[in-house]
Amino acid sequence: MKQPSAEIDGSTRTAGVIGWPVEHTLSPAMHNAAYTSLGMNWRYLAFAVRPERLAQAIAGVRGLGLAGLNVTIPHKEGVIPLLDSLTPAARAIGAVNSITPTEDGLEGENTDVLGLMTSLQEGGVEITTATRVLILGAGGAARAACFGVLEKGGRISVYTRNRARGERLAADMRTSLPSGDIAVVDSLTAGYDLIINATPVGMWPDQDASPLPPAIQLGPQVTVMDMIYRPQETKLLKAAQIAGARTISGVEMLVGGGGASFARWSGRKAPIDVMRAALLQALSGAANHGGTNSA
Ligand code: NAP
Repeated sequence: MKQPSAEIDGSTRTAGVIGWPVEHTLSPAMHNAAYTSLGMNWRYLAFAVRPERLAQAIAGVRGLGLAGLNVTIPHKEGVIPLLDSLTPAARAIGAVNSITPTEDGLEGENTDVLGLMTSLQEGGVEITTATRVLILGAGGAARAACFGVLEKGGRISVYTRNRARGERLAADMRTSLPSGDIAVVDSLTAGYDLIINATPVGMWPDQDASPLPPAIQLGPQVTVMDMIYRPQETKLLKAAQIAGARTISGVEMLVGGGGASFARWSGRKAPIDVMRAALLQALSGAANHGGTNSA
């Protein structure tokens, strides 16, 4: 691996990620590769923060003047009352995974939305008011997908095993985006343009599983996006490819989200190709060492 281009010295900036546990995070690989490729004197570290230490950790971001902070499980909701402002996406989704220090204090963002929308755009998907989208799952990632798609005017069906959780998601989205077209469905019809898997079904080590409801027929008219990034090519994506559908991997969403944090903190365009290559290398290392699926 390439070494950072500058020694750590008095002007080194620090960014990082907090989580508990956090040692399997892939973010340091992505961000440090970006800093190195651009010759930035920045470092990105992983901080293991116990839930009861969260407030102190966020005070530390202010006190130490960190350049930016990512937030992963289990702190994405708990961090919200400790911040000064939220972007509309973070507020609607109810989860923050990226904190940017600004002149007005700490701003919470949800870069899952930005990562997903970038990955769809790069994958050739244009969402309009005519686009019918099926979202599988109703957790945090599904909330991000719903917000991003509804903001573009897409029409959403949410299919989930926990109807009550799905209804809460839909109600929250209607509060944030009152004109949004979103329904929780038990039975599925044909005609979806885009299917997004926002469940962990098919994720390593259960990569023989697929979340696709039996009623759904895949074909060349559909784009299938799987948020899972380990494996990069899930059973769902393989089936979609065989059926002639366009496919987008969760790796692209993860890289897009990392790139969004990089750009917000540094004010520079993210070197996405460098970040993707570092992520894929880290993922192959994690596969060899049996690591987890945490970002
Ligand atoms: P989450 O909050 O735990 O939500 C998971 C959703 O999947 C829930 O609706 C859950 O239903 C459903 N589910 C879980 N197991 C299921 C099963 N066996 N059959 C049917 N439904 C099932 O998780 P999340 O944070 O939204 O993450 C979901 C996936 O997205 C994970 O694989 C995660 O790694 C991935 N993700 C990827 C990115 C990226 O950048 N690529 C970013 C965020 C998340 P219940 O409510 O009934 O449990």
